[in-house]
Amino acid sequence: MTDYQKIAELLYPTIKTSVEEIFARYPKRNLKEGQVVTRFAPSPTGLMHIGNFFQAFISYNLAKNTDGIIFLRIEDTDQKRKIENAQAVLYDILNRFGIKFDEYQTLDGKDVGLYGPYVQSQRQEIYKIFAKKLVSEGKAFPCFCKKTEGKDDVLKLRETKFNEDDEKEYDPCRNLSYEEVKKHIDNGESFAIRLKTQNTGKERIKFYDLIKGEIEAKANAKDFVLLKSDGIPPYAFAHAIDDTLMGTTIAVRGEEYISSTPAHLELFEALGFEPIKYCHNPLICKIDDETGNRRKISKRHDPEANMMYYFEQGYPIDSVLEYLLNMLNSGFEIWRKNNPDLPWQDFRFDINDITAVAPLFDTNKFNDISKNVIAKMSGEQLYKNWLDYAKEYDAPLAEILVNNKDKFVRLCQMDRDGAVKPRKDIYNYAMMKNYFDYIFDRPIKFELEEKDIPLANEFLNEYLKNFKMPGSNEEWFSEVKLLAEKLGYAVDNKLFKKSPESYKGNTAKVCEFIRVALTGRKNSPTLYTIMTILGEEETKKRLSHIF
Ligand code: GLU
Repeated sequence: MTDYQKIAELLYPTIKTSVEEIFARYPKRNLKEGQVVTRFAPSPTGLMHIGNFFQAFISYNLAKNTDGIIFLRIEDTDQKRKIENAQAVLYDILNRFGIKFDEYQTLDGKDVGLYGPYVQSQRQEIYKIFAKKLVSEGKAFPCFCKKTEGKDDVLKLRETKFNEDDEKEYDPCRNLSYEEVKKHIDNGESFAIRLKTQNTGKERIKFYDLIKGEIEAKANAKDFVLLKSDGIPPYAFAHAIDDTLMGTTIAVRGEEYISSTPAHLELFEALGFEPIKYCHNPLICKIDDETGNRRKISKRHDPEANMMYYFEQGYPIDSVLEYLLNMLNSGFEIWRKNNPDLPWQDFRFDINDITAVAPLFDTNKFNDISKNVIAKMSGEQLYKNWLDYAKEYDAPLAEILVNNKDKFVRLCQMDRDGAVKPRKDIYNYAMMKNYFDYIFDRPIKFELEEKDIPLANEFLNEYLKNFKMPGSNEEWFSEVKLLAEKLGYAVDNKLFKKSPESYKGNTAKVCEFIRVALTGRKNSPTLYTIMTILGEEETKKRLSHIF
């Protein structure tokens, strides 16, 4: 037995399983040509950042487009950050966005798939088996520096011992003899496991990123921690082992991991693993309202960074996903123009098409996309979605919508069902209550110019005298037109031409008076429909309102 093997035995006397046995439990996946295996590996922190969701969405599409596999791995090793219920929140968000996994662990702890457990905190034994192997080969070592000594002390120690070359960060414990290790262990001291880097701080390496192409960087020269003293692996070790055993072929992760990729690659080599392919996706940016500068979208400043925001505001799922595709790949916008009626799922993107430039979250553009998505819904569908939204976020509204179903379905159908050019005005369900406030309550503010008031009063008075509910839009319009002409308000057969004296006589203008009286607004959907929704009594009450 070598000294390294003896140290490994000393550290892990109870670990008897070999790495080969573990590999036998995780056989290589049988993939067809071109099929990829991707994964989404979130840490359950209680909320989902749009950047993380972006990765899930990319991974999902990559797998789907190659008839491949996507699995979900919960990275819950950081117990300090662990939040009750966080996993359920995560599953709920992914589920609502239609991101379905081929392999995962159910909330009640059952693994679906052969490569589990799919939750890292249940894989600790596996990490130790690999740690033991690395120690036994002299590629990793136990470190007894106490946390309580403070990081600064350890750093100082490193400085004094190794200041001949500050490019590298060798750990003071890297060359402890078997006897020294034994002394620490006999003292009952806990230990972390560190990688014994083979680099000196002078080497550079190249690696390939599927989005960014070839990247050259300084090779790792740090004895970084593989297992903390509580036996928990920080990201790197768990990543190397899990993605290898679980057969990931492409790891999609945030750009912030590029700087640690050299360390990950050294670890893969030490473990004797084939490196996997990386796809570091750019971080989503925003233009800062105050400074006008481009910056990373952030949970603290931007509500839209949190995926819950889209539910809270009632954005259709498809609006969000279409916008993400738009940010991800400029080809999508052209495709959408040429295929306005196809579902976004028909758009197939290749990994090479993913933009390498940080995409910009532009609220106006997002809302425009959402308006298009909503414009394609039938009135019934829009009503149903609005009601579902209200049930979750506005119970009193939901009650009104249910009790007046007929009225609100008609409201949602306005300028929509059967319209050649459906109105593109609604971008989320949260805005609908305000947008249609005149249906709920009589308006109290009127968008009418001061100078128009006398004329409006005069016309509405006359209009009301003979008012009866019209039977159709055409009937309503020809009645208004007739009355306007009779009263001398419309003097030509081209309805919107001004009369010689003033615009008095312009039918468009008198329609505006009716519109403002009924809705408070100069702009609204078809007045005839609004009248039928309000009913005769309410319509008359509003028309009798003298400005
Ligand atoms: N748990 C890591 C994160 O949420 C996963 C990174 C990865 O996908 O490899 O950032």
